[in-house]
Amino acid sequence: MLEKIVIANRGEIALRILRACHEMGIKTVAVHSTVDRDLKHVLLADESVCIGPAPSIDSYLNVPALISAAEVTDAVAIHPGYGFLSENADFAERVEQSGFIFIGPKAETIRIMGDKVEAIRAMKKTGVPCVPGSDGPLDDNSERNLEFGKKIGYPVIIKASGGGGGRGMRVVHNEANLQNAIELTQAEAGAAFGNSVVYMEKYLETPRHVEFQVLADSHGNAIHLGERDCSMQRRNQKVIEEAPAPGITPEQRARMGEVCAQACRDIGYRGAGTFEFLYQDGEFYFIEMNTRVQVEHPVTEMITGIDIIKEQLRIAAGETLSIKQEDIKINGHAIECRINAEHATTFIPSPGLITQFHAPGGPGIRCDTHIYNEYRVPPNYDSMIGKLIAHGDTRDSALARMKLALAEMVIEGINTNIALHQSLIEDSAFKAGGTNIHYLEKKLGL
Ligand code: ADP
Repeated sequence: MLEKIVIANRGEIALRILRACHEMGIKTVAVHSTVDRDLKHVLLADESVCIGPAPSIDSYLNVPALISAAEVTDAVAIHPGYGFLSENADFAERVEQSGFIFIGPKAETIRIMGDKVEAIRAMKKTGVPCVPGSDGPLDDNSERNLEFGKKIGYPVIIKASGGGGGRGMRVVHNEANLQNAIELTQAEAGAAFGNSVVYMEKYLETPRHVEFQVLADSHGNAIHLGERDCSMQRRNQKVIEEAPAPGITPEQRARMGEVCAQACRDIGYRGAGTFEFLYQDGEFYFIEMNTRVQVEHPVTEMITGIDIIKEQLRIAAGETLSIKQEDIKINGHAIECRINAEHATTFIPSPGLITQFHAPGGPGIRCDTHIYNEYRVPPNYDSMIGKLIAHGDTRDSALARMKLALAEMVIEGINTNIALHQSLIEDSAFKAGGTNIHYLEKKLGL
């Protein structure tokens, strides 16, 4: 097993990784910026290293500082968590070239999946269903582009191959606007991502976001842990996630899960990963693969009993997957609410001192957070300060437990979005299950 690892992240996920390590007898090195000395995992880690000032670019994105933290502490591996450098192929490569294990896939896999045109090409080859589209980059041949538009049918969406975070996309409703939209997206993508390649897809108007969790070892074995529904989104940011996805049948789960697991075997995938799909009218359409652990991984852990972080660590140590597909059983239903330090109706970020914190509890409740009484939320990073997860035998029971937990949770001194979650879990359409990705923004009047 790995002896000691550097946790190249902060907040709740850093604490989550630390807990998995300590449970397995792995020593931890916390790295932190100057404003993050009091993070809970920094206080609990075996060692800690300050890697720079508050701005991420100087600390959590500072590759030389992270590598030297591993060197000075004699760590053997680096866990990138999510966000920051977790999907940066150059970072993964530097880590391995410096003689450390990168807890994630090979750099070349991350590079392919980070380029959407390449990723779609790889997925099609292995039989993963994709959105009908141009099957490759668009060029300045406007006649060819118009033909694509005609064949695919309007509306279409022009997407930047190097895009991310919901940026670099433009919906086109008719032929007259097509070429102009392509040129605008190319120019924007070039400026924003240093890569002006764009492609065209059919624009799905009322899809749900359904994603499959996979685990693959470095010996060619891969399994899936079922799916999650993450359709409750605001500005492409997930707000509530759940597993399983309402209405997905065991047959659909088994079929699509195996398609994803087979894709992992075909591309030589290693580690935990997620295949994201848009789901509409009973069909799945691949949009992207995330080559890291995700914020919403706990809902899958709650219904499968599998610790995804511990599996990541075992895979990184070169072990063979200990679980077989037939061992995976879906038990009940789990829902996660992302708790953000922001105003519940204006969404204005609310950093500052937490004067009172009481975590909710009781059967089926899990609270993944790094906050504590008198913790000060710095203004420099993402506003998510924790995740509240409720598990029950049925979706209704998970919702009932979530309602109690939200009412029990006390965070004072800063604004949070707890009140938003309280209204969403009482929303009749959400309660019925299966709302599409536009539902939340429509409800909020955006
Ligand atoms: P990013 O990497 O920027 O997150 P994605 O390809 O994952 O980009 O797409 C982000 C979001 O954009 C999706 O969750 C969906 O809401 C919307 N989207 C992307 N492609 C399509 C499409 N073909 N039809 C409808 N919506 C789309």
